[in-house]
Amino acid sequence: METIECDVVIIGGGPAGCTCALYTSRANLKTVILDKNPSVGALAITHQIANYPGVSTEMSGDALLSLMRDQAIEYGTDYRRAQVFGVDVDGDWKTVYTPEGTFKGRALVLATGAMGRPASYKGESDFLGRGVSYCATCDGAFYKGREVAVVGVNKEAIEETHVLTKFASKVHWITSNDPKDDDLEAKELIKHPNVRHWSKTRLLQIDGNDGGVTGIQIKPRAQEKQELLQVDGVFVYMSGSKPITDFIGDQVAFKEDGGVVVDDFMSTTSEGVWAIGDIRNTPFKQAVVAASDGCIAAMAIDRFLNSRKAIRVDWVHA
Ligand SMILES: Cc1cc2nc3c(=O)[nH]c(=O)nc-3n(C[C@H](O)[C@H](O)[C@H](O)COP(=O)(O)OP(=O)(O)OC[C@H]3O[C@@H](n4cnc5c(N)ncnc54)[C@H](O)[C@@H]3O)c2cc1C
Repeated sequence: METIECDVVIIGGGPAGCTCALYTSRANLKTVILDKNPSVGALAITHQIANYPGVSTEMSGDALLSLMRDQAIEYGTDYRRAQVFGVDVDGDWKTVYTPEGTFKGRALVLATGAMGRPASYKGESDFLGRGVSYCATCDGAFYKGREVAVVGVNKEAIEETHVLTKFASKVHWITSNDPKDDDLEAKELIKHPNVRHWSKTRLLQIDGNDGGVTGIQIKPRAQEKQELLQVDGVFVYMSGSKPITDFIGDQVAFKEDGGVVVDDFMSTTSEGVWAIGDIRNTPFKQAVVAASDGCIAAMAIDRFLNSRKAIRVDWVHA
């Protein structure tokens, strides 16, 4: 598998990650953004963003994020869609693992936001990594010719269900609400011969044994009785408001509320690793705050990598 070396690896392509990339790219640092999905972060799902300075009050979060991403790319950022499942921050080179390849950076930036959730379904944490997964791109191939279930109705759930149809013999798609009427991808998915859509249905529990997941119990709203589905894998795509840090382990310090601990320069407790945006569990979760974090980290990274004593400003002089 491909290994790519660069100066700065940024995990997460929200306003925090894109702003940081804009500044590090402009400082001539080879920068890669690894972003799980540009449509599922907090800004991407914001219907209308009326309080980001300098842009139309009618603008959607998705449109603003596209502008930010394009601006970073214009200055040289290598933006890639990839879900990070692990990092190793020991030593001068920080290693980042994705199904698409391994990335090594002299500086690592954590910017995955706070749309995560604790495992909440019965059996979910017991079978995590033994049939329960949050990444079809990473684990889908293990389920070739087998039955699996997907839980969730957001864009990520829909895209990941599409991925699973390439491998699984049948995908049970469980949604507590119906997808939106104008969601063409969801419509296409429901028509797929390998997909069984369980509309208005709740996941009650995940069953298994020493070998991993054996099935799930679900309850369709229109039925009196619950159903037992025999599946080998369950992919959960529900969002919440917990910092997304599962891929980091205990390699940086966390606050009691789950946010990453940083200093004034957005530096974590691990040298060469920064954390920006909602992953810090900031009291004021706003796009402009996330962008500001990204700028601060980028300038600190430039100073760190170039052994500068002072921060170099990013002004265009007339
Ligand atoms: C419904 C809603 C409405 C909001 N309205 C406003 C508003 O009007 N004004 C305002 O200023 N703020 C608003 N906010 C808050 C604002 O959107 C957030 O504070 C801001 O987006 C945080 O930026 P971020 O870059 O830290 O995280 P995010 O925007 O959440 O971006 C995180 C990125 O990381 C990626 N990611 C996650 N896990 C991985 C992984 N393992 N590997 C690779 N990539 C990963 C995600 O796909 C995503 O692209 C709103 C938030 C929500 C949820």
